[in-house]
Amino acid sequence: MKDLRFADYFLFTQHSLTTFEKCPLKFKKRYLENLKWDNYLGEEIRKRLEMGNNFHLMAYRYFQGIDPGITEDVEGYEELDSWITSLMRNFKKDEKKRYLPEYKLRMSKGILRLEANYDLIIIDGDNVEIWDWKTRVKDRENTKRDENFQRIRLERSLQTVVYLYVLKEGIKLLTQKEIPWENISMYYWQPEPKKMLAEINYSDKMHLDFERQLKDKIQRILEYDYSNFDKTLYKKSCTYCEFNWFCNNEKIDYKKMEEHEDFLDELAWDDIEELI
Ligand code: SF4
Repeated sequence: MKDLRFADYFLFTQHSLTTFEKCPLKFKKRYLENLKWDNYLGEEIRKRLEMGNNFHLMAYRYFQGIDPGITEDVEGYEELDSWITSLMRNFKKDEKKRYLPEYKLRMSKGILRLEANYDLIIIDGDNVEIWDWKTRVKDRENTKRDENFQRIRLERSLQTVVYLYVLKEGIKLLTQKEIPWENISMYYWQPEPKKMLAEINYSDKMHLDFERQLKDKIQRILEYDYSNFDKTLYKKSCTYCEFNWFCNNEKIDYKKMEEHEDFLDELAWDDIEELI
C-alpha cells in the first residue's frame, strides 16, 4: 500500500503536525488511513464545536456581504448573537479593503507541502492581515497571568508558524506583488467579551526560523519508522484520543476531556472537519 506521507498531493496542516507530535500512531490513523471515530466527542464538546462552527459560518456570510442568518432555534442562540454582533461592530466593512473569509492557501517547496485555512485575510493596499477567531470562553475569570500565558502560547503555536509561513510564501497569488515582511501581521481575536488575545508582526527572521521548524517537523514525520512505535511513550495523549479503545481497550473519559483546558483550547472551529 502506498505511504501517503510521500505523495505529492499529501499536504501537512497545523493539525496534522500537532497530532504527530502527540502520537505518531494517531497521525497515521487519522491522516494516512483516514480513520475517524465519529462519536468520540462528548455531548458538551460537540455543542461547543457546533456553536463555534456556526459563528464561523455567520462571520463568513458577513464578510461575503450576505445576511449572517442567525435564527432563534439554533444551538446557543443568545451567545452566538452576542458574538456576531460584536464582530459586526468591530469589523465595519471598508470598500477600499479586500476581505477573504474562510480562505485556503496551499504551497509546495521541497518537503514543505503545506495547507493553511484562514478565518479571514484582509488586504489593505500593501498591508495584509490574518484574523483568527477564538470563541472558547473559559468558565473562570482570566487573570493577567493567564492572559500572558495564553498570548505566549498563541504566538508560539504551530498555527502561527504555519499560517504566517504559508501566507508569505503564497502572497503573490493574493496580491500579485511581493509584500514586505513588516506589512504582514496575524491577530487572534475573541468576540465576547471582546479581546485581542495575541498580535504578531511578521519579520524575515521569523520566516527563516519558521521554515527551519517546519522542515524539521516534516522531516521527522517522513523518516519515522512505524515498526518501532512504542505506545508507552505517548500514554499521556491516550486519555483523550479517539483510538484509546483500539490501542488500550479503554474508554474515553468525556467528563475529564471537557474539563481539560488544553484539549478545549486546541479545538479549532475552522478545521472542524479534521476532528469530526
Ligand atoms: S490511543 Fe494512545 S497510542 Fe493509540 S493512537 Fe491514541 S494516543 Fe496513540
